[in-house]
Amino acid sequence: MSTYHANEKGYYGEFGGAFIPEMLYPNTEELRQNYIKIMEDPGFKAEFDQLLKDYVGRPTPLYFAKRLSDKYRTKIYLKREDLCHTGAHKVNNTIGQILMAKKLGKNRIIAETGAGQHGVATATVCALMGIECVVYMGEKDIARQAPNVARMKMLGATVRPALSGSRTLKDATNEAIRDWINNPVNTHYIIGSVVGPHPYPDMVARFQSVISEEIKWQLLEKEGRDYPDFVIACVGGGSNAAGAYYHYLDRPEVGIIAVEAAGKGVHSGESAATSALGRVGIIHGSKTLLMQTQDGQITEPYSISAGLDYPGVGPMHAHLYRSGRGEFISITDDEAMTAGLMVSQMEGIIPAIETSHAFAIFDHRRFRPDDIIVINLSGRGDKDLSTYIDYFKL
Ligand SMILES: *Cc1c(COP(=O)(O)O)cnc(C)c1O
Repeated sequence: MSTYHANEKGYYGEFGGAFIPEMLYPNTEELRQNYIKIMEDPGFKAEFDQLLKDYVGRPTPLYFAKRLSDKYRTKIYLKREDLCHTGAHKVNNTIGQILMAKKLGKNRIIAETGAGQHGVATATVCALMGIECVVYMGEKDIARQAPNVARMKMLGATVRPALSGSRTLKDATNEAIRDWINNPVNTHYIIGSVVGPHPYPDMVARFQSVISEEIKWQLLEKEGRDYPDFVIACVGGGSNAAGAYYHYLDRPEVGIIAVEAAGKGVHSGESAATSALGRVGIIHGSKTLLMQTQDGQITEPYSISAGLDYPGVGPMHAHLYRSGRGEFISITDDEAMTAGLMVSQMEGIIPAIETSHAFAIFDHRRFRPDDIIVINLSGRGDKDLSTYIDYFKL
């Protein structure tokens, strides 16, 4: 049977795998040998589900957006990941990975963060479990993301500045990898999206798959069938999208739509539209599509939303793009900001700017009146208020 899930070597079609320095092999190998066994253990599942319920606040509602549906003449449901504790889907994954770390006998967590959202989600679960937490962050990002740095410190994490290179996310990732190589026995590295070497993309997708697991029974209750005609999500690394698509990947009756950040325009030179612009290469240990120069140097991505500002995309999404299973649409900063304001004023929900990209789809694509559409509302916009305010001169 054809499948869009990872095979046992972590490949999605030609993408994925584990391209890592030999010194990292013991770390990823320990995880690879154990992750499925641990995740399928009934005790682990029970603890994960309990925390998702009582701590994260799951199940998140599937909300029928009546005014948006009237405006665009189709049936639009919003999966409310913005109502998760900490304000976005990222915590589904960090809860899963901290439990995984405990099962593997680790007592120290490291993570890398760009805008700080994944750092906060990681610091949160480390506080919950009383486990030491070190977050690597580019010196430049530390300066421009002060509120999230303060949150991480408040939660008890150590924020270590990455001082090399461009002093942003990729340098923080290099520092985290170096730390992991030096501390293979007691440390687990929590990666924040469906990126990195096998088994991370598959493991993170499985933790986030709770999103589509819930959509299935919620739609069955509301519409009498467990699937939509289209499921739509914004894609940075691809984790909220992977979670929303997961149980529909091998169901051809469900259209999969991925929305990427075009920044100032796909061909403006300031963009993060990875699949449109990307070529095959290796980033963070995974073979995927990434933005690069002719001679293979990774190019700096740009988007007004920090969470979509990543030069690669997870291997699942690269495969969805190349195989044609997914429909990929790029949305500019301006289109996303306008859509974010529109959703705020039509539904009383201020979305994260990442999510606002997904809402701009309706200016690019028509749907039929009886189509059932689910948009994954990946996060709330509180963190982005100052950007919205500056943009609209509110
Ligand atoms: C981090 C983030 C994203 C992008 O990450 P994915 O791994 O692609 O989901 C999207 N939306 C929000 C609200 C985020 O915080």
